[in-house]
Amino acid sequence: MSLPDALVDALASARHVLALTGSGASAESGVPTFREAQTGLWSQYEPTQLATPEAFAQDPALIWRWYRWRRELVQAAEPNPGHVALARLHSLVDTMTLVTQNVDGLHQRAGSPDVVEYHGNLFANRCHEGSCDTNGADLEAEVPACPQCGGRLRPGVVWFGEAIPDGARERADAAAADCDVFLSIGTSSLVWPAAGLADIASTHGAVVVEINPDATPQTSRSHYSLRARAGELLPELVDSLARRKRSDT
Ligand code: NAD
Repeated sequence: MSLPDALVDALASARHVLALTGSGASAESGVPTFREAQTGLWSQYEPTQLATPEAFAQDPALIWRWYRWRRELVQAAEPNPGHVALARLHSLVDTMTLVTQNVDGLHQRAGSPDVVEYHGNLFANRCHEGSCDTNGADLEAEVPACPQCGGRLRPGVVWFGEAIPDGARERADAAAADCDVFLSIGTSSLVWPAAGLADIASTHGAVVVEINPDATPQTSRSHYSLRARAGELLPELVDSLARRKRSDT
């Protein structure tokens, strides 16, 4: 895809770049997006109905089976060229903030430092009753119990209707207000408050770029909408930026 010169210019002169990723950023690693997860074993369930505190209260064993399936799938996956390109971007801009709605840890495995995990982490466990120390729990149990209080353990992800983890929301909001370029990558821009970050950036004068093969509610509000897969477009974008930086020096 030929990239607009003005977009590479904007990146080359940016002081602070914020990249927000969604599940599309991991699609080329074989990790299903929410929509794609409605296949096979789990086709009888609506994924957005499994990722709720109500679903956990009603059938915790079912929710643990779903998360164990997702853990195995992610463990077998590898970062794709899009993850690698974003890790490289850190070294090409003064300040880079990477906020991910993904819970799979693939950005970290690709080498991105200091990732803001907006929706938690698939491999974390926490006590459903409070902030207990969960070390030593028997994770093989159908519904693991908290070793400290005996309550139920749950995966350390943010479910629909729950608050964003301490610090993550503040860091993401502050970065959105400060960045010069905002990259919205592989997200349907339907899940709030993450979907509002691009508007914060835009209001503060940032150039907003969407990378997604499909249109989303964010498309018409973006300065650039690049209809492409993240694993193909991001390496091209980061290569163009590296070339521009070299020719500028
Ligand atoms: P979503 O499933 O709602 O949307 C995925 C978006 O990615 C779609 O707009 C789709 O067009 C786009 N897409 C698909 N393939 C792509 C590719 N190769 N390159 C670029 N874009 C591509 O996901 P969302 O917006 O992240 O929000 C829903 C929630 O899903 C988040 O809360 C997230 O925590 C959760 N989730 C995470 C994972 C993960 O950690 N990998 C997987 C499934 C769901």
